[in-house]
Amino acid sequence: MDFELTEENRIFQNAIRDFAQKEVAPLVDEAEETNVFPKQLFRKMGAQGFLCPRYPAEIGGGGGDKITECIMVEELNRVNAGIAASLMAQSGLATQPIYNYGSDEQKKEILIPAIKGEKIGAFGLTEPNSGSDAASIKTRAVRDAESYIINGTKIFITNGPICDYVIVAAYTDPTKRGVGINLFIVEKGTPGFSVSRKLDKVGNRSIETGELVFEDCRVPANKMIGEKEGGGFAQIAETLLSGRITYGARCTGTAQAAYDLTVLYAKDRVQFGKPIIKFQATKFKLAEMAMHIDIMRSYTYRVAWMYDNGKNVRKEAPMVKLFTSEILQKILADSMQIHGGYGYMMEYPIQRYWRDGRLFTITEGTSEIQRLIIGRELGF
Ligand SMILES: Cc1cc2nc3c(=O)[nH]c(=O)nc-3n(C[C@H](O)[C@H](O)[C@H](O)COP(=O)(O)OP(=O)(O)OC[C@H]3O[C@@H](n4cnc5c(N)ncnc54)[C@H](O)[C@@H]3O)c2cc1C
Repeated sequence: MDFELTEENRIFQNAIRDFAQKEVAPLVDEAEETNVFPKQLFRKMGAQGFLCPRYPAEIGGGGGDKITECIMVEELNRVNAGIAASLMAQSGLATQPIYNYGSDEQKKEILIPAIKGEKIGAFGLTEPNSGSDAASIKTRAVRDAESYIINGTKIFITNGPICDYVIVAAYTDPTKRGVGINLFIVEKGTPGFSVSRKLDKVGNRSIETGELVFEDCRVPANKMIGEKEGGGFAQIAETLLSGRITYGARCTGTAQAAYDLTVLYAKDRVQFGKPIIKFQATKFKLAEMAMHIDIMRSYTYRVAWMYDNGKNVRKEAPMVKLFTSEILQKILADSMQIHGGYGYMMEYPIQRYWRDGRLFTITEGTSEIQRLIIGRELGF
């Protein structure tokens, strides 16, 4: 057994940590305030192979693996969860279906520019009346000669307002629940495709999240991902499975940042004549946080390693998402508590991690849905 990052992993970790401090951190306040994503980061990260670190270097990726992607996600989340989410979507949801199932043409026209940060991607599954029950989507793609005509609405779409293309889930055969779904690539500027709203969120304010509408949106048939009608649900499931491991790194990075801020604050804040870190109640909370963060990180990287080694992670990936996002809520609550009244003030950064992290038990499959999947995998 070897629980250490490799030398290559360490070099990558130092490089991305340095990048996050120098290139991302200075952009956070303005992005949070304006709710406008600093789009220049896509090209900057793409140029260094940081944007999509697990795809081969020959197509612009970092030439790494799932562990490398987790390192990238953990480091970016330590700095800002919103910006990290936008970039995570690019390295996972918005590229993986094309990487795994796309045609050579789709890879050349969409995937490679996306990996290089020249095109921004989004992934549209959720609809106003279809969230956890993804198979209940109403978006339709109807074949018409050499095209498909897409009609439907997608909501809560990360990068939606700024995307150059979106991978859209739609039924080609609505009589077959789940299996009659396909994924289509719809590019910005396609008649019938519009961003109807940019959504105003409680946290993760630096990502742009939107509602997308498809009204008689005609796309060439070769924009369908995969060779035949049906089977898109399996492509979605595979993409989400991988994303659940990445989510462990997202939660770990956020937890680490909250812990670091809290230790600094507790050393500095004096009450009853001594820094509050000297009180046993504070030490107990910090000790528990440190323990949980270590477990979050170890478990995430273990399952990433399993994934990289071709092992079945259908049970472990949702366990990573469930455990890390739930325990993060306790870490954030304790961080806030230790900050006292100042923590509740917008001028202290802990409130941002607290607002941002609240999302993590909800998106990419709620905790209840992770429990359902784990139960199913356990055979219940
Ligand atoms: C900021 C943000 C970004 C997002 N980005 C994207 C994106 O890029 N692309 C995309 O497609 N989607 C995206 N989503 C959507 C996200 O994945 C969904 O919000 C999530 O899957 C939950 O769906 P819902 O919000 O409709 O909740 P619902 O499905 O309505 O669930 C509401 C509650 O009911 C519970 N529940 C539902 N069914 C069951 C059940 N069977 N058993 C027990 N409890 C149940 C849920 O756990 C939850 O607590 C994003 C959401 C947010 C908020």
